[in-house]
Amino acid sequence: MYGIYIHIPFCLRKCPYCDFYSTAITDGLKNEYLDALENQISSFGPVEADTVYFGGGTPSLLDPDDIARIMSLLGNRFMIHDTTEVTMECNPATADRDRFRGFLKAGVNRLSLGCQSFHEKTLKALGRLHSVSESIAAVQDARSAGFKNISVDVMLGIPFEDPRTAEEDATAAASLNAEHISAYLLRICDGTPFADGVPGIPDDDTQAECYRRFCEVLDGCGYRQYEISNFCKPGFESRHNSKYWSCGQWLGFGPGAHMSDSVSRYSFPPDLKLFTDTFLEGPVSAPVSYMTYEGSVDAEEYVITSLRTAQGLDLSVLKDRFGSSLNEGQMSFLRKCSGAGLAVISGPVIRLTREGFLVSNSILSELI
Ligand code: SF4
Repeated sequence: MYGIYIHIPFCLRKCPYCDFYSTAITDGLKNEYLDALENQISSFGPVEADTVYFGGGTPSLLDPDDIARIMSLLGNRFMIHDTTEVTMECNPATADRDRFRGFLKAGVNRLSLGCQSFHEKTLKALGRLHSVSESIAAVQDARSAGFKNISVDVMLGIPFEDPRTAEEDATAAASLNAEHISAYLLRICDGTPFADGVPGIPDDDTQAECYRRFCEVLDGCGYRQYEISNFCKPGFESRHNSKYWSCGQWLGFGPGAHMSDSVSRYSFPPDLKLFTDTFLEGPVSAPVSYMTYEGSVDAEEYVITSLRTAQGLDLSVLKDRFGSSLNEGQMSFLRKCSGAGLAVISGPVIRLTREGFLVSNSILSELI
């Protein structure tokens, strides 16, 4: 079963840490993008999809009618069911109850709200356009509009964070009764303003303690950690993101979007002009030939992504799917990790513990 990812390449303003592809929105650019998107989608043959994900950029900058148009196109082109998980990323600065009602009516049934922090000073340092009270109001508005599946997304390793503020962020997210909470570590990316230096970033030891405390608060509030950065109430795992972590299949539309048929990966260049030049005239034949080949989906990628999940790496799946296995040196290293409390080996399944998640980059680089 496929997932469908739609990249909405517009933002109100660029956040200084962000390296996702986006540009300023105008009515003209939006309409050209939507027309080109329609033709790109129409270029692909029908597949059955159980997830749709509007990511960006800022998908909530589109109007509900725009989302309805895309959903109708997807429904005509692909096999999409009532049970399909349809997620939309939303910036709290861009939505109110009426717009949420419109998005729900358009077919969105899951929201991913980028709250990032529940501390004003940190939101300012991150260059966010919303306040803490606007984030809280956005979650409440989404709830009263009828959304029953809301992810509150925050960041860790952010300016002015300490273990106490990390606990407060976890408590704030949980007290909003979110079904799902994401907590990604701030990455300092080359080419962004943050690459020139960010005041107030906690040191590595403090970041580790912040992660522990954040997780412990969510443990106490009934959330299950199912991936290194993701937590949910029972049954509310992100089905779409789980496809990425299991090296599954998804189609990706829009400039900068990636896709995978579970054998090979492709992406369309992050360039709105190239995207509209390519697709404005109409659907194209051999649409993958307009994309960049990103390499094959291999055993190494499966090892990396599965060890980031609580389910862990299943060696029998590695063998069956990729004809691959870990060598004695790799198994010996993992046994050492197990002895140090960083991993658990149970039959053919290897899982990292929470302490293992904290040093997963070192473990994975040693392993691979
Ligand atoms: S709103 Fe999101 S996608 Fe847009 S610049 Fe900020 S972090 Fe990046």
